[in-house]
Amino acid sequence: GSADQAFDLVVLGGGPGGYSAAFRAADLGLKVALVERYATLGGVCLNVGCIPSKALLHVAAVMDEASHMADLGVVFGEPTVDTTKLRAHKNKVTGKLTGGLAAMAKMRKVTVLRGVGSLLDAQHLKVEATEGAVGQAKTGAVQTVAFKRLIIAAGSQAVRLPFLPNDPRIVDSTGALEMGVKPEKMLIVGGGIIGLEMGTVYSTLGARLDVVEMLPTLMTGADRDLVKVWQKFNQHRFDNIMLNTKTVAAEARPDGIYVTFEGEGAPKEPQRYDLVLQAVGRTPNGKKIAAENAGVAVTDRGFIPVDVQMRTNVASVFAIGDIVGQPMLAHKAVHEGHVAAEVCAGELLGDDKLKKSQFDARVIPSVAYTDPEVAWVGITEDEAKAKGIKVTKGLFPWTASGRAIANGRDEGFTKLLFDEESHRIIGGGIVGTHAGDMIGEIALAIEMGADAVDIGKTIHPHPTLGESLGMAAEVAHGSCTDVP
Ligand code: FAD
Repeated sequence: GSADQAFDLVVLGGGPGGYSAAFRAADLGLKVALVERYATLGGVCLNVGCIPSKALLHVAAVMDEASHMADLGVVFGEPTVDTTKLRAHKNKVTGKLTGGLAAMAKMRKVTVLRGVGSLLDAQHLKVEATEGAVGQAKTGAVQTVAFKRLIIAAGSQAVRLPFLPNDPRIVDSTGALEMGVKPEKMLIVGGGIIGLEMGTVYSTLGARLDVVEMLPTLMTGADRDLVKVWQKFNQHRFDNIMLNTKTVAAEARPDGIYVTFEGEGAPKEPQRYDLVLQAVGRTPNGKKIAAENAGVAVTDRGFIPVDVQMRTNVASVFAIGDIVGQPMLAHKAVHEGHVAAEVCAGELLGDDKLKKSQFDARVIPSVAYTDPEVAWVGITEDEAKAKGIKVTKGLFPWTASGRAIANGRDEGFTKLLFDEESHRIIGGGIVGTHAGDMIGEIALAIEMGADAVDIGKTIHPHPTLGESLGMAAEVAHGSCTDVP
């Protein structure tokens, strides 16, 4: 058929998965187009996810740290918060990064097409220009773009509970990041990472929190012992932590949102909130791109199944990131994007090495950027037990870490799990300040097949929190005779 433009590779979606794929493919020599419906690149992560949430969490962490200083003999004044300025700061942070992406796309000669993309067949994509479209005649204009390969990186969106009324006081993570309401009492629906991160910000800014979680623990997926430490440290933020409990109804009244609960922790009466954050998970955008026109399989839930090379059931079409499955994390999307780009380039340029690229990460780390941070990677103790894998544990409590004590923050610990037979490390978790910055070392150790001796004999600088990794490994191989 006829097309308005033709490319070697078209990438649908400009998030971490999409831009990583587009940039890698361009670097390898392909002619690439990146289709994005919004005015900025970066997707959920840069615009309304990872980055703006961390900009706000940083401010909250500094405020919390300052309030702890009273115990050390240093008293700051009561903080006053100008939310307009804070919002401007957050927008400046995201603007800097999305602007950087636009410049990098230009430098690599990646054509950015501003519009909503949908599949026409296994070689063509329809792009309907959106507001602010660059280099296109007018809003609403439709063009057909031909591709030899397509990478779908259309991401996910927040799940909306159908029984919650339409009201500005009921928000998802995107709404919460806008900081339009200054609540005295806030409900977090869903006790996962996103809900607890946003809860941390609002609580530090003065809100009392309730959280409701359907499952028996907060931060499902994390090692239970890590969560316990987090919960103890954060108890003061909460009026009520409702576990094994569901939100079943809500009514918007002039003085607040009245929410009804059902389950183990449910209060009998509806509860009043100034702000309700829905953080009950994200749903993939697989059903919104007319994938069926190209014969691309999409599951009932909207995921697109792929093989280890990120290829869908259609040879010319690949998919990456949130749209292909859990965990829905930016670093997973980036790595998958690189694989898909390399396979496409390998096939189109006849490069046998690139052709063999595949996603074979052993583990993908998770981090809750709360205070303290909670980070984990690989197998947990509970999972090992369930799978019948015998583990040797190396536990290092931060009450024995000189640095943690000097920081006035020794509530955390570092835990490593080794396979009892092979002695290799198969999992680990850290709860404490900067846990997220340290979890990469455990991921590397797992990827490299390190054992407790490898990690224990690696010289870590003293006095650091990272030292706790070497100490935990020494505990596991039994040679720990002293602690600093
Ligand atoms: P997305 O980032 O969702 O990007 C998809 C892009 O495709 C979007 O820009 C969208 O506009 C575009 N698009 C979709 N359909 C079309 C179409 N038909 N036409 C044109 N364009 C289209 N992950 C972490 O690893 N660390 C964190 O700290 C973290 N924090 C988070 C905090 C919050 C509040 C949220 C919501 C998420 C967070 N995540 C975090 C998750 C992370 O944002 C996602 O895993 C990541 O953005 C997924 O990347 P992606 O490329 O698959 O898709």
